[in-house]
Amino acid sequence: MNHKNKYLTILLFSAIPFGNLNAKLRIVATLPNFASIAKELGGDKVDVMSIAKGYQDPHFVDPKPSFIVKMKKADILIWAGLDLEVGWLPPLLENSRNSKILWGAPGNVDASKGVPLLEVPNIPAAQLRAGGDIHIYGNPHYWMDPNNAKIIAENISEALIQASPSDRDYFKKRKNDFIAKLDAAIIKWEELMKPYAGRKIIAYHNSWPYLETRFGFKIADFIEPKPGIPPSPRHLVKLIKQVKNEEIRIIIISPYFNAKPANVISDKIGGRVVKMAPSVGAFDEVQDYFDLFDYNLNNLVEAFKWEESIN
Ligand SMILES: [Zn+2]
Repeated sequence: MNHKNKYLTILLFSAIPFGNLNAKLRIVATLPNFASIAKELGGDKVDVMSIAKGYQDPHFVDPKPSFIVKMKKADILIWAGLDLEVGWLPPLLENSRNSKILWGAPGNVDASKGVPLLEVPNIPAAQLRAGGDIHIYGNPHYWMDPNNAKIIAENISEALIQASPSDRDYFKKRKNDFIAKLDAAIIKWEELMKPYAGRKIIAYHNSWPYLETRFGFKIADFIEPKPGIPPSPRHLVKLIKQVKNEEIRIIIISPYFNAKPANVISDKIGGRVVKMAPSVGAFDEVQDYFDLFDYNLNNLVEAFKWEESIN
């Protein structure tokens, strides 16, 4: 860096504290689910953006340079962890060179901290990764249990308070309000799903164990033989046999997967393919974290009712 640039840099950085006075905290979330929760918690004191869109596969996001620009200016980064973003977050974050949000910084929020994980393998991660599995530290789709959002909210809220201690009371109140709203919604959702406990369906990718465990339905098998591996014709033949045996008729699929295998199975069994939202923003109807469950659970209930009507 020459002297002139150095001078300009110093000038620029010394201007930030004044320029940023009373400004909103800038939050970058890797996924729209975390962005939605951060908006609930931060209210009008935060500006939130999500890198991935809800209709994109969170395992595989195109790391565009424009995201680095957003990260350079961020006060807080929220990410899923568990290797979910391993293919795209590290180069963006490291190129941002933003010490507020780099690994280990107070503004770097691994939302999975403290979340009770499902499907933690007892096989070494490297071995699973070598086999093409992309869920090597446990299932990373943990935001699909609304109860986990309370833990995610604690993680985010802690970072908000640390970034702006004078707004502590505001953030605490919003967190408590969010949790109360969530608790009421969870009771409503559990009531809705109660009649369908134990009902079996199949899914494309293993994105749903948290939803399944919370709301009591069963995913009997997957179109993917393992997470991240597309199905072979042989796997599909085996799956069709299984769903026929178990009289399963509902197949759930996320918008970013090839719908063909699901449609083939559905045609063979006289079933129904149900599009589910894996994240906020997957469909127009899913604008926030609460919509995510309203949309998915209502879709499931409708499918279960259809299934009863044809039996
Ligand atoms: Zn996955």
